Amino acid sequence: MAIMNAGQYEESLRKLNLVVYMFGKRVKNVVDNPIIRPSMSAVAATYELANKPEHEDIMTATSHLTGKKINRFCHIHQSLDDLVKKSKMGRLLGAYTGCCFQRCVGMDSLNALSIVTFDIDAKYGTEYNKRFLKYLEYVQENDLTCDGAMTDPKGDRGRAPHQQSDPDMFMHVVEERKDGIVVRGAKAHQTGALNSHEIIIMPTISMREEDKDYAISFALPSDAKGIVYIMGRQSCDTRKLEKGTIDRGNQFYGGHEALVVFDNVFVPWERVFMYKEYEFAGSLVEKFASYHRQSYACKVGVGDVLIGAAQTIAEYNGVQKASHIKDKIIEMNHLNETLYCGCIACASQGHKEPSGTYYVNTLLANVHKQNVTRFPYEISRLAQDIAGGLMVTLPSEEDFKSTDVGKWVEKYYKANPNVPTENRMRILRLIENITLGTAAVGYLTESMHGAGSPQAQRIMISRQVNLKEKQRSAKRLCGIEEEVK
Ligand code: SF4
Ligand code: FE
Repeated sequence: MAIMNAGQYEESLRKLNLVVYMFGKRVKNVVDNPIIRPSMSAVAATYELANKPEHEDIMTATSHLTGKKINRFCHIHQSLDDLVKKSKMGRLLGAYTGCCFQRCVGMDSLNALSIVTFDIDAKYGTEYNKRFLKYLEYVQENDLTCDGAMTDPKGDRGRAPHQQSDPDMFMHVVEERKDGIVVRGAKAHQTGALNSHEIIIMPTISMREEDKDYAISFALPSDAKGIVYIMGRQSCDTRKLEKGTIDRGNQFYGGHEALVVFDNVFVPWERVFMYKEYEFAGSLVEKFASYHRQSYACKVGVGDVLIGAAQTIAEYNGVQKASHIKDKIIEMNHLNETLYCGCIACASQGHKEPSGTYYVNTLLANVHKQNVTRFPYEISRLAQDIAGGLMVTLPSEEDFKSTDVGKWVEKYYKANPNVPTENRMRILRLIENITLGTAAVGYLTESMHGAGSPQAQRIMISRQVNLKEKQRSAKRLCGIEEEVK
């Protein structure tokens, strides 16, 4: 079964035995939990669209290992065209779900490991790449969703892993056995953790020799013994427990993050992809981060939804012809398409690594992500400007449906007489959801901090630009003959 459909994906999750906690209690049925389920549906969309002929070119690829058709989320990029299609896939799914569909972290970690395991082997004659490719084939054959896990809790930010007063602030090996290793630590903010079959662990920062026990990478089934998930809260999350659905905004989809604790977990050797080769930790971080910065094509798709919602509420309010409204919609589109330029550019300017994997242009990927830390905020500001204050003062669906006061909500919140009040409420709730509610986790704060906070990209930009070359150009043109060193 190289390609699953959405139904098969959901059934496959039911077979997992995850240890999940939310609101202080163990969640036994994860798949049907009303708070978690919309996020499962968003991942299911990555399976659903892969089965639609009109999206086949974007959503599927040919495995370089088996020659079979696979979901692009399990694919190792074999060309620049693959990289470009990955960016297009992000926009497609962002627009389809209006939220974070979570599966990119796994794709990005697989691609990063395909490069770095090869590079470690080239230096040390190890067999990480062979192990990795065997694992990859298993993932591709079963069309698995992998959670790429990079972010450690990090403790005192001023100290290296080995200097922390609590050694578990970074994932580390606590025991080496003949058949594998035992690890302890945690990964924070894990996107899509509860909807994944596998979890792939990578180090979170560059490391030195003293930190070699922390320079580890491995993969485990998500329900391996000793892994505990603690669900993160989102603004307005309990609206999903309410009777009606209008106040949720997005009727179908959502994202989630979780704290994932590894309480002395055993990893067999065949699933270990880096073991104490500390000098490659930074390379793995950089590869994953750059791929994931490209993945923020998803925000362009969510931006499409928000622009559509802003235009719709403008029409419902009867202001769509006002020149300042038109101009704000143009500005939103300009910003959103500028983001699209970045994720297409870093893909089309990529290159082939020694492993054969195609890798994005890191400078452009970092510039793209830096834009993502800003533009969705401005697009959201404009959407809220167009929506008006009603977006946050609107009574609840229960009041709208109340036999006592529903008629007042209906009467006083009607604008365009041809538009039902309910439609106006629905579109306002969607804008609220993306810019303030559960989806704002993905569209705003994750845009800021996901795949590294803004400063991480600025450091990469400063490392990647060729300043000397720019100085040479400037000096030549104005007749300065001194050399630029
Ligand atoms: Fe994918 Fe975007 Fe979610 Fe990251 S934030 S996992 S890139 S959808
Ligand atoms: Fe992310």
